[in-house]
Amino acid sequence: MQDLGPATAAGALPLSVGVPCPVCGAKPVGPSRQYLASEWATLRCPECTVEFVWPLPREEELSALYDWRIYASRQYLTFPGTDRRRARMWDEILDSVTDHPAPERRSVLEVGCGYGYFMEAALRRGWHVEGIELDPATARRAGERLGVVVHVGDGRTALQPLGRFDLITASHWLEHLPDPRSAIAEVARHVNPGGLVIVRVPDSGSPVARSAGANWTWFCPPVHLFYFAERSLGALASSVGLRVVSVRHHRGDAHLWPLECAVALGRSAIGPPGVRDRPQTWTAEVARSPIKSVLGRITEAIDLVPERAVPPARWNASELVVVLTPA
Ligand SMILES: [Zn+2]
Repeated sequence: MQDLGPATAAGALPLSVGVPCPVCGAKPVGPSRQYLASEWATLRCPECTVEFVWPLPREEELSALYDWRIYASRQYLTFPGTDRRRARMWDEILDSVTDHPAPERRSVLEVGCGYGYFMEAALRRGWHVEGIELDPATARRAGERLGVVVHVGDGRTALQPLGRFDLITASHWLEHLPDPRSAIAEVARHVNPGGLVIVRVPDSGSPVARSAGANWTWFCPPVHLFYFAERSLGALASSVGLRVVSVRHHRGDAHLWPLECAVALGRSAIGPPGVRDRPQTWTAEVARSPIKSVLGRITEAIDLVPERAVPPARWNASELVVVLTPA
C-alpha cells in the first residue's frame, strides 16, 4: 500500500484529490458527503465505499487525543443497566457462532477490551481469555475483576509478541486507527486456522447514518478516522486474507433509533463536534458535571427498551458485527 504521507492542515484539501483508497487501493478517491459538513475533511472510495478522514491527524495529535479520551472515559464508567445490555448482546453474538471455535480449542483474545464485557461472556462459557487494553488503569481493573491476563498497549503492538488464538474480537477499535489495514492484518496473523475474528464497528451504511450524514452520532472525527459499512469492511478483511462468515446489523452500543435521531437533530442545530484543540468538548463538560449521572440514567432508561420493540429492526441498527475466518 502506498504511504499516505504526512498530514497537513485539514481544510486546505482541494476537492479534486487523488488519494488511493487505504482499504482497496482504488483511485481516485473523492470528497465524501460529509466533506463540507465538518472541519475535518473526509473522503469516500467509489469502489469499496469506505469513508475516511484526510489528511490524517499527526501522531502527536492522536496521542494527545487519546490521553484526553482515556481521561473522559474514566469519568463515564458505566451504569448497571448498560452493563446488563452489553452482557446480553455478547451472549447473543457468541450464541450465533456457537459451532466455532472447536470445543477443544477455545483460546480467546479481546483487542481493546475496556472493562471486559466480552471477556466476561467468554469466561462464562469456560473459554481461556486474555485481553489487550490501551489504558493501564482500565486494564488493571478488568484483569483484577475477571482474574485474567490483560496486556497493556495499543492493539497492534501488543499483539505482536503473542501467540495464536481460536477467537479474536475487536469492538469499536478499527475506526479509531490511522491504518486499520495493518491492524487487521496483525489480527489475521494471530488467529488459528479455522478460528474466528469478530469485528464490531459503527455501521456507516445503516439507515440512520445515511440519513443523518455528518450529524450521525458516530461521525466524530478525529476520534473516528474510518467509517466502515458491510462492503468496505468485507474489502478490508479480504485484503488481509480473511473471509466473511456472517454479517449482523444490530443496535449494539448505539442508542435506540429515536434517540439516535434526536441526537442527530441536536447536532444539526448546534453543529457537529470537532474543534481541533478540544474535540467533543461538550462530552468532557458533561462528564465532569453533576448532571452526568442524571443524563446517564435517562439515556440508560431509554436504551433499555428492547431492541426488537422498535420496528423495523433494520432501522434500529447502527452497528455492524462481522464474523471472519482465515480464507
Ligand atoms: Zn476502497
